[in-house]
Amino acid sequence: MQKNDVIELEITDMSVGGEGIGKFGGMTFFVKDALIGDVIRARVLKLKKSYGYGRLEEILQPSETRVEPPCPLHRRCGGCQIQAMAPEAQLMFKAQKVRGNLIRLGGFAADFIAEIMEPIVGMEEPYRYRNKAQFPIGTDKEGNPVAGFYAARTHSIIPVEDCLLGVEENRSVLAAVLAYMREHHVSAYDETTGKGLMRHVLIRYGFSTGELMVCLIINGKKLPAEECLVERLSAIRGMKSITVNVNQEKTNVILGKETMCIWGEPYITDCIHLLECGDGHFTRTDTSVKFWISPQSFYQVNPVQTEKLYSLALEYAGLTGNETVWDLYCGIGTISLFLAKRAGKVYGVEVVEQAVADARRNAALNGITNAEFFVGKAEEVLPRFYADTVTVKNEGTMGESNCPTKMRRESGRQAAQDMAHPDVIVVDPPRKGCDRACLDTMIKMQPERIVYVSCDSATLARDLRVLVDGGYELRRARAVDQFGQTVHVETIVLIQKKNS
Ligand code: SAH
Repeated sequence: MQKNDVIELEITDMSVGGEGIGKFGGMTFFVKDALIGDVIRARVLKLKKSYGYGRLEEILQPSETRVEPPCPLHRRCGGCQIQAMAPEAQLMFKAQKVRGNLIRLGGFAADFIAEIMEPIVGMEEPYRYRNKAQFPIGTDKEGNPVAGFYAARTHSIIPVEDCLLGVEENRSVLAAVLAYMREHHVSAYDETTGKGLMRHVLIRYGFSTGELMVCLIINGKKLPAEECLVERLSAIRGMKSITVNVNQEKTNVILGKETMCIWGEPYITDCIHLLECGDGHFTRTDTSVKFWISPQSFYQVNPVQTEKLYSLALEYAGLTGNETVWDLYCGIGTISLFLAKRAGKVYGVEVVEQAVADARRNAALNGITNAEFFVGKAEEVLPRFYADTVTVKNEGTMGESNCPTKMRRESGRQAAQDMAHPDVIVVDPPRKGCDRACLDTMIKMQPERIVYVSCDSATLARDLRVLVDGGYELRRARAVDQFGQTVHVETIVLIQKKNS
């Protein structure tokens, strides 16, 4: 067998990245866009010793899970890896991925996982769910400005007027920007030369408020005939914020450091509602948290599923109103502020300083006074705090220098002890999971419950093993689909102190 051979494959499995897996001549082949149950013809792209990669050439017999993908560009774009799979099959794939990781990488028994795992939470509307879109701007062969997406694994732009994961408002915004560029001969940025002005258009939409934000990222200081662009954009329904971000670096990073508001407010507002989690159903409650979102803010991209995920986090946390809770990797305080509604005191830790500033501002916006935020790495802030507090307890000198009255000292000492031994710790780390030093300190702190929200069930499984070996028990686990059409999935688990 050699490269470019065409082989027939029956797809019998799928990789965690969504590639179809089939065997041929004792070798394992990975084929993008092929689904479990398909019989296909594939062209061999790459050969290794025992495995290879193929390109889907023809579907000889389609899988039962195969549907007509609504986006004609789904194979070229690379954003949606499993759009050709029926929604229920996508959910099964994702639930299986989480289950498989917990068993294989976490070392949990399959029976035990089957017993504790709750049904995956799907999306009612698996399209048009993203509240944020970033379109690169380029030039087509005729020299006209185009907006679109980078083709999978490349930096060439496929022109797209609409992405089915994004909101419909994106279309009007792009049309306005491109019309303005044509009218005023505004150049598009060219990555290879580093020349040209318009780099990206960033759009954010508040699902619960209908507020729209546009940020134009430019390779320069100012847009020509800015007022003409503002006139077009501000006429779009819901427009609340138009900003310009300066990025003159030759880099893949989209946003530069400086942002100027050229119309409206520098932020939009969105609300996240707390849901009641009945058996299988989520019902909206009157409790909600408001957020100010600026172009730079980190904010969950699927607000509808985020409400479900965070409401589950709150349920798993089992709060009654008096608890002391840490929220590690807290971002702009999304989970922390939710927790604060039901806890005595919440302490958030986040490494990005701007996010912590946003978290504090969001707390104030909601009149929440029982949440405090610390800047730093969870694996540094937590161990340092714990070591300091434990030493202080032993020596009895807590806060001598900065607590002038005995009463302050007493209450400060009590608060520090509560922080060192909280009731609940919530973690929501990035894909790489928690650092070992962070996990070890969590175990030392002996919280009653740990709620782990994860966007990568492989690192989740690894970390759970450490916590379980440290005296905790896995009690509940549930996958929540936040990213329909893609292979990604969030998972939430509850871990409890053994014998409690
Ligand atoms: N819980 C938040 C954010 C989750 S994303 C929300 O739901 O909105 C993960 C967050 O962890 C990001 O904000 C990232 O900046 C932060 N982060 C990454 N590494 C970190 C570390 N070592 N310590 C603390 N925060 C970290």
